[in-house]
Amino acid sequence: MDEILEELPQRAKEKHSENKKFFAKLKKRPPKNLDYTMQELHEAEFERMDCLTCANCCKTTGPLFTNADINRISKYFRMKPSQFIDEYLRVDEENDYVLQAVPCTFLGADNYCSIYDVRPKACREFPHTDRKKFQQITNLTLKNVAICPAAYNIVEEMKKSIKF
Ligand code: SF4
Ligand code: SF4
Repeated sequence: MDEILEELPQRAKEKHSENKKFFAKLKKRPPKNLDYTMQELHEAEFERMDCLTCANCCKTTGPLFTNADINRISKYFRMKPSQFIDEYLRVDEENDYVLQAVPCTFLGADNYCSIYDVRPKACREFPHTDRKKFQQITNLTLKNVAICPAAYNIVEEMKKSIKF
């Protein structure tokens, strides 16, 4: 996995223009069964992928924390939401709560998440490849393929199975 992660940004860069063109077509003419196709490709990829050998999302990019996330996680720690914010979060350029630093504070050396059951919604949904109306998040996906080997593989499979 280390080698895959090391090569991923370069491989994503090489595919960037091809992916951009493919996503432009996808946005213009999304197939009727796109939600179903994405669900299938996502499930097939995550049957093969062991996120515990990777954790690159937790190491390199942190999630956004919604108010519901903050309330749930601070309750888990028996802290006041304001204490939790002071200790772990900052406000980013887009006015969202994000981690003060990456790798995520809650990531263990064994790649386990210490708050897995109450983790932020954004962590549960990453890399969003089973999201409905996937054509709406192609710009985000263009970035995610450089971080997440599963997202990279799913986009490669999309290009094979969706023909325009
Ligand atoms: S979601 Fe992607 S980046 Fe995160 S651990 Fe799994 S394969 Fe790695
Ligand atoms: S909260 Fe857990 S799943 Fe989310 S980035 Fe941190 S370690 Fe990863």
